[in-house]
Amino acid sequence: MSRLVVVSNRVTLPGSQSAGGMAVALNAALQRNNGLWMGWSEKVKAEEEPSTLTEKEVGGITYALIDLSQKDLEDYYYGFANQILWPIFHNRADLAKYSEARESAYYRVNEMFADQLEQVLRQDDVIWVHDYHLIPLAEKLQQRGHKNRIGFFLHTPWPPADILSTLPNYNRLLRGLSCYDLVGFHTENDRNNFAECLRRQEWGELNGEDCRAYGNEFRCGVFPISIDTAEVARLAERDDDLPDSYCRFAGYDIAIGVDRLDYSKGIDNRIDAFNRFLRSNKHRRRKTLLLQITPKSRDKIPAYQAVEKAVAELVGRVDGELGSVGWVPVHYINQSLGQPELARLYRRARVGLVTPLRDGMNLVAKEYVAAQNPRDPGVLVLSRFAGAAGELGEAILVNPYDPEGMASAIETALDMTRDERIKRWSAMMERLREHDVYRWCDDFLSKLNAAPQGLTASL
Ligand code: UDP
Repeated sequence: MSRLVVVSNRVTLPGSQSAGGMAVALNAALQRNNGLWMGWSEKVKAEEEPSTLTEKEVGGITYALIDLSQKDLEDYYYGFANQILWPIFHNRADLAKYSEARESAYYRVNEMFADQLEQVLRQDDVIWVHDYHLIPLAEKLQQRGHKNRIGFFLHTPWPPADILSTLPNYNRLLRGLSCYDLVGFHTENDRNNFAECLRRQEWGELNGEDCRAYGNEFRCGVFPISIDTAEVARLAERDDDLPDSYCRFAGYDIAIGVDRLDYSKGIDNRIDAFNRFLRSNKHRRRKTLLLQITPKSRDKIPAYQAVEKAVAELVGRVDGELGSVGWVPVHYINQSLGQPELARLYRRARVGLVTPLRDGMNLVAKEYVAAQNPRDPGVLVLSRFAGAAGELGEAILVNPYDPEGMASAIETALDMTRDERIKRWSAMMERLREHDVYRWCDDFLSKLNAAPQGLTASL
């Protein structure tokens, strides 16, 4: 069996506090064949120091870590990846802050990744590259003469062609993707958007899963990421264990929101909808609260500082106007909670509010479902613009741009009969049991291993 090499901007060591389902599944796949995971060490090196690779082995897996300089981080990571690609991929071209310096840093750091990977790469390694930070990596390896089987998975949405075309030189990204043997997206919609982008290129063509562009032939597939369903359900069952500080929630109907503080998550739209719901349902006041768990994220970036300010002001206004001495309608927390605590809170909440304006998949939606009590499950209110909506159609699907619609969805969720809740939940849970993150990982890797390799289209 070939060795698996995973490359992503960040690596997650087994057992780490922040290990989500994907890291657990990737580590399991890597462990099966003494694989290697390469990524940024989270250390900052001096500008003039050459970049080197530090290897360490944990549980049969080799972690190959690369240091980046402050300038690399600013221009490649905070700059091109998170202030240009992230907003454009989430349909927010208005927030993209393009500069040539950022673009060239992106390609320069990808070269550095290729240089370092080359040091440890074996001829028959199968490489799996993750996410928008590293799109050009296959092309860079190809230019160095490597012919390894190589796949790419995008964890964000792929935008419509008109939106992608707001990015100067966007065709460099398309050419970069054409150098993989397999490109994976979360949803059909993402794949269709990508196909449309290819069609607009002179060379681009997509026929089912087979693509042809820039002289390369490659495959393109849909692999909706998932969670460790059984593990979330197991953690959630330990319901008796909530810390004492949560006693204050006893007797309340809780709606829960869990999101990184990111403009794509629609947190202010959600709080506004909850405010409207309370205003038009006086009998629910003092009995219902929104628990919004929102760890800060990328807070060096001005657009993130702006959303942080807007959300904090909105929470203050709603709590000030509607709250009373004994009741705070919106509990807003800027802390990151661990998976065990989150799972128990999901189960305690009667409504899961997952209402992003745009989201690749949204794992919180799946975790909320997996954590429910089968005999008395809560109701998921889910944005149509989250990738998860494709698989969780029994949720109450909402348009996050429609505040009244969202407010009445919260009302419907709280009024739903137990039979109806069980019916909807069972259908979603069955799907999540079948399609967990291990299945996602296996599906991608078996498609990658079966993809025709390194073909150059005949002219
Ligand atoms: N998460 C967490 N602690 C928190 C908030 C979130 O562990 O305080 C986890 C959450 O359980 C989920 C992930 O972070 O697994 C967020 O994934 P999602 O796809 O919902 O959004 P992303 O942050 O990747 O855009």
